[in-house]
Amino acid sequence: MSQLAFPIANTFGLAARCRQHLRVAAPCRFGVDEPALVVGEGSNLIPLCDFAGSVVQLADQQLSWQPQGDDWLVTAGGGCNWHQLVSELVTAGIGGLENLALIPGSVGAAPVQNIGAYGLEVGERIDWVEGFDRRDGQPFRLSASDCRFGYRDSLFKQADGQALVISRVQLRLPQAWQGRTSYAPLARLLDGKAVTPQQIFDAVCVIRRQKLPDWQQLGNAGSFFKNPLVSAEQAAQLAAAEPGLVSFAQGDGSVKLAAGWLIDRCGLKGLAVGGAAVHSEQALVLVNRSGTATARDLLQLALTVRERVQARFGVTLEPEVRFIAEQGEIGFDQALVRFLG
Ligand SMILES: Cc1cc2nc3c(=O)[nH]c(=O)nc-3n(C[C@H](O)[C@H](O)[C@H](O)COP(=O)(O)OP(=O)(O)OC[C@H]3O[C@@H](n4cnc5c(N)ncnc54)[C@H](O)[C@@H]3O)c2cc1C
Repeated sequence: MSQLAFPIANTFGLAARCRQHLRVAAPCRFGVDEPALVVGEGSNLIPLCDFAGSVVQLADQQLSWQPQGDDWLVTAGGGCNWHQLVSELVTAGIGGLENLALIPGSVGAAPVQNIGAYGLEVGERIDWVEGFDRRDGQPFRLSASDCRFGYRDSLFKQADGQALVISRVQLRLPQAWQGRTSYAPLARLLDGKAVTPQQIFDAVCVIRRQKLPDWQQLGNAGSFFKNPLVSAEQAAQLAAAEPGLVSFAQGDGSVKLAAGWLIDRCGLKGLAVGGAAVHSEQALVLVNRSGTATARDLLQLALTVRERVQARFGVTLEPEVRFIAEQGEIGFDQALVRFLG
């Protein structure tokens, strides 16, 4: 165990180590002969135990922008901090990403789960994503449509994209900015007034600080589960049985349910297993309440939440977070078998 000397940074605050840390600045080959895990800032990772290989981070932290035609083209290295990027652009008077303020993590990870908040997903703003295949070091550049963005999903989470390392992203932001304020909490706070990117940025920061626990004070990985998508028929049946059901109709006819509302309605806020708990104000966030939560505590809690929601609503919650074991990422069901037995 002496070889596993390096901590794996994660905002949930689980204690886990790896064999070494590497920073890569150019396309290269890794993770072929021993396990390797590309990590940004660990805000969507749950390391369930020590990792038997290298944790690899992107070195490029360059940020630049230039006008092109009617747009701003913003190019950022995978190692940049996401919120810092949004903040610098807003300060420079460039709008288009302000709804995504205060989302923790790196630029390189943002396309992976197509980060989204307050009515905007990053995939809508991506021009291209650049990087390399870690199996052979071959560089790639992919357009937004090649990235197959979906709700908290992209090519980079699929089998054919998991070996791709994102080292640079180009965003295309229209110079003729139009604020996106229809998302209910934002609309309420802005109260129908004409706004600037800075005002939306500030409002998003206020709402997020009120709504979400600060991971530096109370370890967490943001939304633990995705909002489930169900058919319009199932949503109508649930709405008839459950007054106040929070749902959002999607363009494709499906309906997105608010996972936090489902968990809350099951009476699970504050439910604790060992050091892990459902946050007492935001049911979608599982927290490391005393800093002592173990992977077992967290998995047992997540399983209980999933079972209770399933029993009451017939809806299966899927984790948004990524679980890491000794050799690399594993799925939720695999993690339950492996760590709860
Ligand atoms: C308090 C809090 C609030 C949050 N709010 C939101 C929110 O509103 N919306 C939202 O969408 N998410 C949210 N998240 C989740 C998280 O911020 C995002 O998923 C973020 O993009 C993760 O970035 P990271 O650098 O920390 O990635 P990590 O957690 O380090 O990695 C996440 C995944 O991406 C992979 N990865 C990382 N970097 C790269 C790269 N360069 N190339 C290829 N793969 C890579 C990793 O292997 C891993 O599978 C929140 C998290 C927290 C803690």
